[in-house]
Amino acid sequence: MSKVHTNRSVVVTGSTSGIGLGIARAFAREGANVTLNGLGDAAAISALQAGIADEFGVKVRYSAADMTRPHDIAAMVDEAAAAFGGVDILVNNAGIQHVSPVDEFPLEKWEAILAINLSSVFHATRAAVPHMKSKRWGRIINIASAHGLVASPFKSAYVAAKHGAVGFTKSVALELAEQGITVNAICPGYVFTPLVEKQIDDQARVHGIPRENVIRDIILAPQPNKRFAEIDEVAAMALYLASDSAQGVTGTALPIDGGWTAR
Ligand code: NAD
Repeated sequence: MSKVHTNRSVVVTGSTSGIGLGIARAFAREGANVTLNGLGDAAAISALQAGIADEFGVKVRYSAADMTRPHDIAAMVDEAAAAFGGVDILVNNAGIQHVSPVDEFPLEKWEAILAINLSSVFHATRAAVPHMKSKRWGRIINIASAHGLVASPFKSAYVAAKHGAVGFTKSVALELAEQGITVNAICPGYVFTPLVEKQIDDQARVHGIPRENVIRDIILAPQPNKRFAEIDEVAAMALYLASDSAQGVTGTALPIDGGWTAR
């Protein structure tokens, strides 16, 4: 039986780790050819690339495009289109975090978070849309955050960027609604990945409390179900949004947050 995404071309930004890697693997499992992207050790990334290709029998490329560099981002998309006959599905996932009081927020961290978490979504979308328009089919999936819908203190840049990504999602969804292209955001609460692991230490420093208290009293405090979301749960929603069954779902910001944003 043919798999759901056989021969589709998928670009997943920030897919050398965490949620992006989980999403890339999920699309590969469903038969898609994948363009990986992200930072990391070159040998480890080559092994990852070969491993996914072997495990799922699909083609896997890697782009080292830096999500702070618009030219790199456009080249990543165009090269993926040339290699795999288009870019059918774009998952804008790359992201970083920095936790700091606003009056001490390092300028370079503000610039980096806005560039990687928000502007790269624009640059990749801008480059991918012509490829999707030519097929009158496309899926753009932006990994935003519960912090795209509500705020927490000490995360001004992240919250600003993620709210921006949700707004961008809605605007572009309206623009492309008649062209067979859907644009949606997924808004996870806390998912246990290297990004969260680092935040535990940062929050412990800012609040002056031990790691275990950060997990219980800060990280999972707003998440009513008191559990981290799993990477596979985010990947499953991405697969759904990319499916033909989801052709009528566009312009949404779908939480996977254990009820956090229902408050
Ligand atoms: P992660 O740190 O495991 O992965 C981040 C990925 O982005 C890595 O592959 C990294 O190499 C890549 N990246 C970072 N800077 C880059 C750059 N300049 N150019 C190219 N790639 C770059 O983090 P994660 O938790 O998997 O986060 C993935 C996305 O999910 C992010 O957008 C994050 O904001 C969002 N998110 C995460 C959580 C969570 O709890 N983990 C919750 C909500 C939203």
